[in-house]
Amino acid sequence: MFNERLYDWLAVHRPPIPTSDPTGRFAQLRAWQASLNDGGWLGLGWPEEFGGRPGTILDQAMVYAALAAAGAPPPVGIIGLQTVGPALLAYGTSEQKSRYLPRILSGADIWCQGFSEPEAGSDLASVRTVAKYHAHRFVVKGQKVWTSWAQYADLCAVLARTGSAHEGRRGLTYLVVHMRAPGVTVAPITQMTGEQEFNEVFFDDVVAADDGVIGEVGGGWQVALSTLENERAMYPISRSAELQVSFNRFLSGIGPDQGNAVDIGWAEIWLAAMTAVGRAAAGDLAVGTVGPRSAVYKLLTSQLEQQFAERQLVIRPANADAVTADAVSRSRSSARHDYLLSRAATIHGGTAEILRGVIAQRQLGLPRDR
Ligand SMILES: Cc1cc2nc3c(=O)[nH]c(=O)nc-3n(C[C@H](O)[C@H](O)[C@H](O)COP(=O)(O)OP(=O)(O)OC[C@H]3O[C@@H](n4cnc5c(N)ncnc54)[C@H](O)[C@@H]3O)c2cc1C
Repeated sequence: MFNERLYDWLAVHRPPIPTSDPTGRFAQLRAWQASLNDGGWLGLGWPEEFGGRPGTILDQAMVYAALAAAGAPPPVGIIGLQTVGPALLAYGTSEQKSRYLPRILSGADIWCQGFSEPEAGSDLASVRTVAKYHAHRFVVKGQKVWTSWAQYADLCAVLARTGSAHEGRRGLTYLVVHMRAPGVTVAPITQMTGEQEFNEVFFDDVVAADDGVIGEVGGGWQVALSTLENERAMYPISRSAELQVSFNRFLSGIGPDQGNAVDIGWAEIWLAAMTAVGRAAAGDLAVGTVGPRSAVYKLLTSQLEQQFAERQLVIRPANADAVTADAVSRSRSSARHDYLLSRAATIHGGTAEILRGVIAQRQLGLPRDR
């Protein structure tokens, strides 16, 4: 019934035909998110007073899967929806929830996540960006890197040092910064896919948002950890849906005989496994916080994504006469894109090595290396 209702809605509300210009495409996808939200397809399991709807995160995962099956893109404000939103729900004041959550759902505010720095990636506790309290506001100075979608974002969740360096993780605070505030500079970085997903972001004495501390001053580590756990658990849900859309498009490009059945079969199996991991993660999220198991979900998904992408790359049209050269070349270039992007899967949101450490120590209770 759920899927039928979504398909009926999609028959009336058509997804956008993508433009090739990245900025135009982002604007299209922002409008598409607003439309999904108006249709009642986002915020399932979030409190209704903050724009949410009855349901659970498992229902939300089903929406993403159904959108993928219909070839429709997922919402673009994924960092807000999947990482910052849940952190606000857990640690924000009711004023912060009222201010930010409805705008996250509608796509009015796109968020980016300013955690990583040139000298602080896996070792996040050594963040050097500082925030000093001055005239009732925090003023932020420092540099972030690999900040996804910062060039389009309205707001950034910044992990900054408000205590002294020797306090380590206890001196960190999670702050909201407006991306168009004076002193913010964004420098896009081109990935090997040719796209500019991530950026360097410079904060030169930037005044943080009013009431912009999420959680406690000095309590940023806890908020960041919960943000990362959500990111890791949500990743299989959204990524399997995105890859399903891409794979459907790929298959339609290579024609009726659809290449080598064994390779297609394996690619389908890896995708189905990713979807199953997503369902397990969503099941956990629906009943509470997911904790270190999120590392298991993220690690499994990143490996499945890489296996899927490698397999998709070798699929060739079986009946080259039945398809146009243009369609074949589009399919190949989309498989190449998925492959190149899949290399990042074992890096972002915690590298495979770091996740294995989390699983060993926090999930299995094994002793630390001496
Ligand atoms: C596509 C993409 C998008 C991203 N988006 C964002 C974003 O929006 N916001 C953000 O803040 N960051 C983002 N990142 C950054 C990402 O979180 C970091 O790249 C990641 O945490 C690793 O940090 P690093 O690159 O500094 O590598 P390093 O931490 O320098 O690690 C280098 C290598 O050393 C290994 N290593 C490090 N420490 C250990 C250890 N203790 N034990 C074993 N091995 C170890 C790592 O596994 C890795 O192989 C993104 C990254 C990618 C690829």
